[in-house]
Amino acid sequence: MELGPKSDSPPLPELYGFRRTVCGCEFCRAPCKHMPGTLDVTDLARLCPAGQELIPWAEEHLRALTDKSVPTLVPVRQANGSCHWLFDGQCAVHEHSPFGCAYFDTHMTDEEAQKRAEATINARREDAARNGPYFQVWQHLCRKGLTARSGDRPGLARDLQALQNLALRSRRRQSS
Ligand code: SF4
Repeated sequence: MELGPKSDSPPLPELYGFRRTVCGCEFCRAPCKHMPGTLDVTDLARLCPAGQELIPWAEEHLRALTDKSVPTLVPVRQANGSCHWLFDGQCAVHEHSPFGCAYFDTHMTDEEAQKRAEATINARREDAARNGPYFQVWQHLCRKGLTARSGDRPGLARDLQALQNLALRSRRRQSS
């Protein structure tokens, strides 16, 4: 999803053969309030600012999900459930936002979303098999109790339904 300023020219990056998404509509912003996107293996190096140690940075900004079958890192959530990188409706790390945010939107087919999810799950499995950095961060956060459960899917579904209802009412008003 797109939560930052629009840019006219640079080509969209690709990962695992998938292109970054661009939509920044209200529907595509809704997950930031309920289910911050999962980080891919490649996200750590891009998100952690140059000169900062990965582990202390991860302790501050990430949580390890413990209810998934593969190691899964997500942004810390605020007390209201929103991603802690969400400020005034904008993503503070837009350019480097996690794969689970940047490569998905609410308009793609379930099949497309599934293919993208499988690509990052495979990468995380491979990283864990070689005791890679993503797995090491996940283990460290688990050991320190810096864990979380998956985001609020019912809350997201409610928000999306409310947006759908609003859009329907608006269309009816326009056509009457
Ligand atoms: S990292 Fe950015 S795009 Fe992803 S959930 Fe957080 S605010 Fe939204």
